[in-house]
Amino acid sequence: MNEDALGLDGIAGRGASALAELHALRAADAPTHGGRVLSYVYDPGIAELDRIAGEAARLVQPVNGLDPTVFPSARVLERDLVAWGAQLTHGGDGTVGNVTSGGTESCMLAVLSARDSAGRGGEAGDAGSIVIPTTAHAAFVKAAHVLGLGVVRVAVDPSTGRVDPARIAAALRDDTVLVVASAPNYPLGALDPIAEIAEVTGAAGVPLHVDACLGGFALAWWDESGAGDDTLPPWDFRVPGVTTLSLDLHKYGYAPKGASLLLHRDRDRHRAQYFGLTDWPGYPVVNPTLLGSKSLAATASAWAIAHALGDDGYRALVGRIRRSVTVLREAVDATAGLRVVGDPVGPVFAVAADGHGERAVDPHRWAAAVAERGFTLQMQPSLPQPDGTTLPATTHLTVTPVTESVLGELVVALREAATEVRGVPPAQPLAALATLAAAFEAGQVEARDVTALPSAVLAAALAEAGLAPGGPGELDMAAVLSAVEALPREVTRVLLIEYLAGLLAPG
Ligand SMILES: *Cc1c(COP(=O)(O)O)cnc(C)c1O
Repeated sequence: MNEDALGLDGIAGRGASALAELHALRAADAPTHGGRVLSYVYDPGIAELDRIAGEAARLVQPVNGLDPTVFPSARVLERDLVAWGAQLTHGGDGTVGNVTSGGTESCMLAVLSARDSAGRGGEAGDAGSIVIPTTAHAAFVKAAHVLGLGVVRVAVDPSTGRVDPARIAAALRDDTVLVVASAPNYPLGALDPIAEIAEVTGAAGVPLHVDACLGGFALAWWDESGAGDDTLPPWDFRVPGVTTLSLDLHKYGYAPKGASLLLHRDRDRHRAQYFGLTDWPGYPVVNPTLLGSKSLAATASAWAIAHALGDDGYRALVGRIRRSVTVLREAVDATAGLRVVGDPVGPVFAVAADGHGERAVDPHRWAAAVAERGFTLQMQPSLPQPDGTTLPATTHLTVTPVTESVLGELVVALREAATEVRGVPPAQPLAALATLAAAFEAGQVEARDVTALPSAVLAAALAEAGLAPGGPGELDMAAVLSAVEALPREVTRVLLIEYLAGLLAPG
């Protein structure tokens, strides 16, 4: 080994150039601050909070959150955050839970706990199934996939975006281990009728998970934000049948990515979420979450931000959000050819075409035209539901406190973009995918003919369609979504996996 490689000057110099390169890479990212990206990032618009979060993360940088007996700081941070989340969601003193790495992990652990509490899964065999609205987050389908459960998807009412409790009742089966409802859901921002669903699940003796990953830390102050008159129906532990609840610190808690809460009303269900192993020759393993060794960085940042903002700080930020949502929804409602879908509650909503033909505004064309004016909105595909109805293609807007600082410019962009694309029909899939779609339509190909193809063939097909990394359609989301809608979903699933794997592949 060359000891010179460890010389301080060499390390400092090479480190500096790596950091310079990272600065350059970051400059090419979508802007995480300033309100120009209306999905993925949750910007309170307060630079001091970034500094505090960064300092907190640095302080715990070398800690292994795996073992709170060796690192008691891990215990204090987790206990504080769980107690705070329980108080905000009216859980009372008995509520227990954990900090997880994000919403997906919180949802997975809720499903794991429900499966094992039902005495299913693992060595017990048949893992059972979960009942979810079509609008429930993909994380629940992922959880079922990983944990070996079936999924029963229940159509939501396209006119409200909410699921009907009677349909949940009808979907329950003998092997149902969990029902999921959203507060609110990601695609449309609608708040499922939690109390009415809890009556159904309570009568059937099935646990109910409320997924408040997205909006929990906004809904908690929604009514008292002073920015609107409507009050929310109870959506949290005030509702007796709610057994578990997830809320993401890294969304409207404003923490950096990597922190969420999963709360349980019941201690035994909580313990069922844990993994323990004492019969191996290493240290006794007791993990409340999926990870083993884990960073405390996002947890410490979340904790510091919660203290820095305090109750009044969060309430004031929610006031900003709620006022901006009102302005933006009015702007959409006042735009011919566009409509807000259903009856959203809270900080996110979705926009669809209003009507057809000359006056309609295709929501994806619209999003592309808004992007040219400096704001990134998120395109979402249409979805045929199990009851034969269809949820329309939409464009999603996540409103954050900082949205207020660009509100005037954003409203103008939304209006001008609509004028520009009004009457323009939706994008067509790229030519090669359109040919493939026609072959499916004509029955010449079946989904399994494609899903069984090896990666190399799929990659070649993508390249031909212009969707390979560096190809003309590489980042054309409107074209990608029109392909998602035109082809069988099972086919787009494997194509998009191939696409992303190609994007991330070395070389
Ligand atoms: C974001 C989200 C999740 C999943 O969370 P991740 O933090 O992205 O893993 C689950 N449910 C809802 C409603 C969400 O918005």
